[in-house]
Parts: sequence; structure tokens; C-alpha cells
Amino acid sequence: MNHHVLIIGSIALDDIKTPWHEERGLLGGSAVYGSIAASMFAPVDIVGVVGEDFPAEHLEMLRAHGVDTSGVERRAGQTFRWGGEYRQNMNDRDTHFTELGVFAEFDPRIPEPWRDSGFVFLANIDPELQLRVLEQVRQPRLVLLDTMNLWINLKRDALIEVIKRVDAILINEDEALMLFQTHSLPEAADRLLELGVSRAIIKKGSHGAQMFSADSTFAVPALPLRKVNDPTGAGDTFAGGVIGYLAAGGTLDESSFRQAIMVGSACASFVVEDFSTRRLAALTPGQIQERCDRLHDAICCERVVMPERVPVPGKR
Ligand code: AMP
Repeated sequence: MNHHVLIIGSIALDDIKTPWHEERGLLGGSAVYGSIAASMFAPVDIVGVVGEDFPAEHLEMLRAHGVDTSGVERRAGQTFRWGGEYRQNMNDRDTHFTELGVFAEFDPRIPEPWRDSGFVFLANIDPELQLRVLEQVRQPRLVLLDTMNLWINLKRDALIEVIKRVDAILINEDEALMLFQTHSLPEAADRLLELGVSRAIIKKGSHGAQMFSADSTFAVPALPLRKVNDPTGAGDTFAGGVIGYLAAGGTLDESSFRQAIMVGSACASFVVEDFSTRRLAALTPGQIQERCDRLHDAICCERVVMPERVPVPGKR
């Protein structure tokens, strides 16, 4: 079986502002966060494009994690740049700018051996690029899709086409509601399942994530962290953890998906502790295990058995 994870998405330089701190030109991008997280579990091949301004040390860091970067093109022009600012609650954020740079003209070419990847993560990027990747891969066991409000607004039709062709989708709660113009999350999940995905995984920021399939639903909390420094990349890291864990195990049943989203939540709990990929890049398997155990303790309880009602005094 091919346990390789193929990841395409943005490779970016980010300007991040929180109520307490601001940093510019940080390494970011959905494919970067996703690749580092997935590389904890399985071999990762990353596809994307960077401009002349992209520091070589960032690609070296990815390679040090065992990520194959030979599918990253360097082109004349600017790297994808994104600027975001978090509100006081550190959950809501405003995008200040999105400059596609070299991604505007990018035509992804998947190297021949990578077309047989068992696992494909279409990280957040233009859905038309995601479609072009799907046209080149041959029968992956799992295709996981992520997206974002910009693409829902700009390229809804292309996005719906991608959704129809993937196995599972990860999407923020607000974006799922926005995609289908509804206030009901279960209804939005139903609509995603009707489009053909077998699993819709809804991300809820600091409230964790909820997974819907045709016959089950499962929720994981986010680890309660005393201090969040930069939530950027939490969703991509979550996704990378999910697909990396599934690729390593190779089974795609309900139980594996439940464990995978616990792993995703544990991985995401680290990335928010520092800006950019700093905390993620220093992560060890033992640290992930420890947080998975804490999440497991947080959601486990004995099955409830209805007790006999205590009789009201004086009444029989
Ligand atoms: P997340 O916090 O998980 O939603 O991901 C944040 C990362 O996504 C940042 O590092 C950005 O560079 C990147 N990003 C922001 N907007 C987009 C977009 N429209 N398409 C692709 N990547 C984006």
C-alpha cells in the first residue's frame, strides 16, 4: 500500500497581528502547516510555488522533517502573501490582504511517481488548482479537502465541483454555514454529504471539531490552553495531523477517523502556542501522544444508565 501523503496548498509569507503582538514576513501557508503536521506520521510530498523572495531556509526546514520539496517550483515574482489580524477573543480574525503572487499563474504538475499517492490533502488554495491536481492523481485511497471563505465567495462553482470529487472535507463552522446559506450546522453537514463526501469535519476554533457521516456524529474538544499566541495554521495543522495519522495506519473506518481527529486536535493545540511554524517544527511524537491522552480523558465517561426516580416524600 502507498502510505505517501501528497499535499498541495499555499506556501506563504504572512503578516500576523494579535491584540498583543505583531510579526511580518513569517513562514505560513496551508500546505506548509499541513506538511509539517503530516510528516510526524508518514512521508509527505508537497506541491506548490514560491517566488524569488522566499527564503531557502524554509524549504530546508521542511526537508529536515522528511518532506520532499522537489514539487515546489520557484518562479519569478512574489510569494503568496497573506495578512490577518485576530480580534480580542483570538477566534475571529480579519483578513487584511491576500496577494496570490506566483500562485496566480500556477499550473500544478504532479511528478509522475507522486500520482499514485495513497493519500491526498487538497489544502486551502484556489479550487481550480485543487481540481487540476485531482485530474492528475490515480485512485488515491483518501482525498481530504480544505477551503476558506475567500474561495466560497470568489469560486463557489469550482469549489462545489471539488467537493463532489473528494472523500472528506474539513471546513470552518462559519464557512460551512455560509456555503449553504443556513444557520443550522447539521443541515450544512447534510448538504456536504449529499454532494458526495463520506465525512464532513467541521472546525470550531477553540471549541474543537465535529465530524458528520451518514450514520454517525463525533465531536472532539480543543485542548483548553491558558495562552494562545497565534491561531494561524491551526486548521491546516489539524488537517495534516488527520491525514498523516490515517496514512500511517492505513485503515479508514469510523474508529480510525475518530482517532485521527483527536490527533488533529492535539497537533493544532501546539501550533497556536507560538507564531508561524515555530512550535510545530519542534514537536515530538511523545508530546502529541500526551495531548491525545489528555483529550481522551476529557471526553470519556461511563455510559449513562437512567436511575430509578427518587420518590417524592409522602407519595407512593
Ligand atoms: P488557517 O489559520 O488554518 O486558516 O490557515 C492560515 C494560513 O492559510 C496562513 O498561513 C495563510 O498564508 C494561508 N491562507 C490565508 N488565506 C488563504 C487563501 N485564500 N488561500 C490559501 N491559503 C491561504
